[in-house]
Amino acid sequence: MQTSSPGVACGQNAAMPLSPLASSIPAAPGLRGAEPLAPFPDPHRHDPLLERFLHDASSQLCRWLGSAAAMSPLPGLSVLPPVEPEATGLSPDRLLADLQLVMEGAYNPGHPGAIAHLDPPPLAASVAADLICAGLNNNLLAEELSPSLSRLERSLCGWLAERLGLPAGAGGVAASGGSLSNLMALVAARQHRGLVERRDAVVVASAEAHVSLAKSLVVMGLPASALVAVPTDAGGRLDIDALEQVLAELERAGQPVIAVVATAGTTVRGAVDPLDRIAVLCRRHGHWLHVDGAIGAVFALAPDHAPRVEGLGLADSLTVNPQKLLGITKTSSLLLLARPAVLLETFRTGLPYMEASWGGGHGGEAGLQGTRPAEILKLWLGLRQLGEAGIAALIDGAIERRRHLERLLSPLADLELVKGSLHLLAFRPTGLCAEASERWSQDTRQALLSRQLMLSRPLYRGHHHLKAVLGNPHTRPAELEAVAEVVGRSLP
Ligand SMILES: *Cc1c(COP(=O)(O)O)cnc(C)c1O
Repeated sequence: MQTSSPGVACGQNAAMPLSPLASSIPAAPGLRGAEPLAPFPDPHRHDPLLERFLHDASSQLCRWLGSAAAMSPLPGLSVLPPVEPEATGLSPDRLLADLQLVMEGAYNPGHPGAIAHLDPPPLAASVAADLICAGLNNNLLAEELSPSLSRLERSLCGWLAERLGLPAGAGGVAASGGSLSNLMALVAARQHRGLVERRDAVVVASAEAHVSLAKSLVVMGLPASALVAVPTDAGGRLDIDALEQVLAELERAGQPVIAVVATAGTTVRGAVDPLDRIAVLCRRHGHWLHVDGAIGAVFALAPDHAPRVEGLGLADSLTVNPQKLLGITKTSSLLLLARPAVLLETFRTGLPYMEASWGGGHGGEAGLQGTRPAEILKLWLGLRQLGEAGIAALIDGAIERRRHLERLLSPLADLELVKGSLHLLAFRPTGLCAEASERWSQDTRQALLSRQLMLSRPLYRGHHHLKAVLGNPHTRPAELEAVAEVVGRSLP
């Protein structure tokens, strides 16, 4: 039962009436967190109630993270708390209880059997950085709203760009996801090449390039036919001879090319296009090369694995998604350019309501987004937590698990493995028609889920496959052996 008596704020503000946001539920004696919380942190003194609230929220989160293996990777439908605000605000206890209900129905990336998607468990330092990011509530739109964080973003983008092989002076901007990074790259390429007015301009990419390219064309006002799909070879890589032919034909027809997009890590099998050779063709024709490295670019951070994405540094623009394998909490994506000034040339509006930049330009002038959180903070802190050795170990582990699963599955007769050179492995029984493949994928996914193993079911080259993404550092040989056992039994 709620009463209408106003709550009492803590500390110095005790005499002030609380805003209607604060709880007016009478505190049960001895119940932690039943006292109302000030809606905004007290700027005059350390607020112990706020600290306890954040502490309790952290412990609730740590209990959830710490019981990941005991829950299913994919929980069943759960009860959701009410969505609408009540007449008066809730106490910290009730807020946390409501949060708990949502948490119980959440996808559980920390389960060792969670190997369906490119969504690993969260890296510890990036969770803390996300909390601090929320507390600072800075805005990466403009430097006066994020003085230290804007500089951190520019510096880290510059460092990462050079670390991935782009030339000195390279840099970029963080974006909310790889789809947005790809879109900004294509918009910048079109602008830079003076093709904004050309309705016949095209983007050239492999037939297995990411769906975000098609979305980009929608935003750019181009027809779906403006995405020219180059066939792939048996390994899922862009066929370089076919690309050469396509580019020659476009040139003959006088049709302008916004960009050639090479994929470093395709979404179904982790295939890496021949970046070096694509770059040579782009230079010869004077085309912009965008590399969609949302999955694969981070492999260049581990010296032993960098050859898997050889040629990354030849890109004019490069999408990197540290949220995918490194476990930086969502979202974490960067768009990096060999010549980052092109971003400012493309997106600058003058920001008439802001002080001029005193550094290398406002973040809000270097991309499509206006107000942005300091997503860079969790990437920076996460990389600092891992260190070079930790980054290499994550990548080593992912490749080793893919190899292990491959060793377990390859002896199975009548199973076709589909892979590239990264940490993804897809497969399906040979000799089934499309409908039979779909039924097999549904039934086998269900059988796997009943053993707490979650794989995904992509449609690839006309057939449903099962796909494992081996980026989860908690996945042990036991889970992979169980996958092989269930898959073995699923075969005719
Ligand atoms: C995931 C992915 C993207 C899109 O990234 P989002 O962060 O999901 O928007 C782009 N390209 C490739 C190859 C991807 O795998």
